[in-house]
Amino acid sequence: MEALKTMDLNALLEKNRAFTSLGKVANYIPELDKANPNAFGVCIMDLEGNEYCAGECNEKFTIQSISKIVTLMLALLDNGKEYVFSKVGMEPSGDPFNSIRKLETSSRKKPYNPMINAGAIAVSSMIKGDDGRDKFNRLLDFFRKIMEDDSIDVNYKIYIGESETGNRNRSMGYFLKSEGIIKGEVEEALDVYFKQCSIEVTAKNIAKLGLFLARNGVTSTGEQVVPYKIIRIIKTLMFTCGMYDKSGEFAVKVGLPSKSGVGGGIVSVVPGKLGIGIYAPALDEKGNSVAGTKFLEDFAEMFDFRVL
Ligand code: GLN
Repeated sequence: MEALKTMDLNALLEKNRAFTSLGKVANYIPELDKANPNAFGVCIMDLEGNEYCAGECNEKFTIQSISKIVTLMLALLDNGKEYVFSKVGMEPSGDPFNSIRKLETSSRKKPYNPMINAGAIAVSSMIKGDDGRDKFNRLLDFFRKIMEDDSIDVNYKIYIGESETGNRNRSMGYFLKSEGIIKGEVEEALDVYFKQCSIEVTAKNIAKLGLFLARNGVTSTGEQVVPYKIIRIIKTLMFTCGMYDKSGEFAVKVGLPSKSGVGGGIVSVVPGKLGIGIYAPALDEKGNSVAGTKFLEDFAEMFDFRVL
């Protein structure tokens, strides 16, 4: 993209680095607490193969909730959209990502959407495979294919922490089982979910994921891995539900389909143009990267990239 060639990405990043001091690093697992709160990295990739990176864009962090969009793609490929959305809704919940509140009271008797934990755990249970190990290996291969990086793997310290502290998620899993939303073993579904959250990536890996979505499901080798009709669903759910219970405000201020994770990552898509990967682990009260969000507000306005 010509417009980006003249941009001073370092200056834009450094201007927004100050916002890292307004947030807090996730600390529900001791391992996550070790992240440097002032770290900030951005990587932007365009469809012509240009790459623009600034700051700590090679630093590793766990993908956390960003994994929800990748698992949803594979679950849709494995099961089709009729089945998936018979078990999980498509509406923003307006509640925190780990809320249990509406699970029982909702008249639909299913999680509001696949971007909140309850919906994501249901989606993780739909990945096909002979056993838990095979299901997760298929999913990990799918992450590697989309991000075009065979070295992507699980951070096992974080995975153990997720599993040991994951009792709220576990309670949702058992509730979903009691409602017939999870078909197989609950612990197997939870294990896939804890592992997918613990996949370690860099801002560059996340930008590649964004680029894959910007290209409507095609990798840089030209292979159509996911059909457009699934990518459209993913981008729409990112736009409406991707930033937890701040998705509405984010849509107004940034206006790009995006998904955040409590590891400090954000993936953003400028459809047909760019994939953006961000790492800045200091989070706001909803669990979104503060500096990452501020950077995206500036960037989207500067180049008039907003989709709406
Ligand atoms: N592992 C976290 C959880 O399940 C991920 C959530 C997130 O990134 N919001 O609570």
